[in-house]
Amino acid sequence: MDLKLLEETLDDLGEPGYRFDQVWGWTAKGVASYDEMGNVPASVRAALTERVPFSTLELTDQQVSQIDGTVKALFHTTKDRRPVEAVMMSFKDGRSSLCLSSQSGCPLTCTFCATGTMKFGRNLTHSEILDQALHFRRMRAVDHVVFMGMGEPMMNIDNVLATCAKLPDVGVTNRRTAISTVGWLPGIERLIDEKMPVRLALSLHAPDSELRSQIMPVNERYDMEAVLEACTRYGEKTNRDIFIEYVMLERTNDEIFQAHQLGRLLDPKRFKVNLIPYNPTGSIYDASSRQQIHDFRTVLEGYGLRTTVRVNRGRDIDGACGQLAAKAMADADDPAAADERAAAAIDAAA
Ligand code: SAH
Repeated sequence: MDLKLLEETLDDLGEPGYRFDQVWGWTAKGVASYDEMGNVPASVRAALTERVPFSTLELTDQQVSQIDGTVKALFHTTKDRRPVEAVMMSFKDGRSSLCLSSQSGCPLTCTFCATGTMKFGRNLTHSEILDQALHFRRMRAVDHVVFMGMGEPMMNIDNVLATCAKLPDVGVTNRRTAISTVGWLPGIERLIDEKMPVRLALSLHAPDSELRSQIMPVNERYDMEAVLEACTRYGEKTNRDIFIEYVMLERTNDEIFQAHQLGRLLDPKRFKVNLIPYNPTGSIYDASSRQQIHDFRTVLEGYGLRTTVRVNRGRDIDGACGQLAAKAMADADDPAAADERAAAAIDAAA
């Protein structure tokens, strides 16, 4: 729901200020239409149905993993038909976690990630991000959100933070919200100035700068040393651990000497490591073996680093980390236009 349009429309209808809170309150609780909003007068409900579309996204496709019940939704923005994907993971203990997208496509070109290979569309508005969460909220209660879907959230930090401000109404507190970044420094600095205690995760993926630049070109712009320093400051300010994400690529970043490098690099009091088994995306890499991941982890633990291995979910529906590329949608416009948009987005966010 376009919350700005909602506000303007209610204003235009001469409705009292509390009407916005009523309508948003129902929406955040997962009702499926204006008609279910008991305390909103019928005439207002009718006017809203006419004038404010219930979602800024149209659901195009939805797949459920046969393996673990993970749900992947493909939407298109109603405004300009940009593809957007989001994922819901439900766990045995009753928790359910949403993986949301902040951009349609991604302007960065991490070499192992499928999203970077699709055409970049644009930053999503905060209503378009929120509508992903509301879609799943209409299916069940949700309690965790990670910004690990398509795109680089720190390049769209204003809209991401505006979403975080509304998520508690949907059932997800800031403390249960995590923003994952490639290390886009201006966004991290901006987060440090905020008061929202969201969790920060850094996609590091290499223990030294040279290798990192090879597999994540963004490291040339914002070097990992400066990024780790900014993450440390955020950790100190919020008194929360910072997650390091590290995708395990065979014979690229998974050697034992690299585990030692990483162990020396990270302060175990501040950082936790999450090793991510590589999901096939048609890139040049192969996945590390389970044994290699195990051995790498053992070395890190020797340095006192709390280390987990991510359980990959939704692989059979291309819904796992790095696999979101909106395969179902071949973007119609030409690649040069997409490249231009990507370059403009990078300039705007830098
Ligand atoms: N741009 C942000 C948010 C996306 S998060 C970021 O990169 O942090 C997506 C996570 O999945 C990141 O940690 C990313 O590095 C990881 N990932 C990307 N491709 C992957 C793949 N093929 N297999 C496993 N993880 C991958």
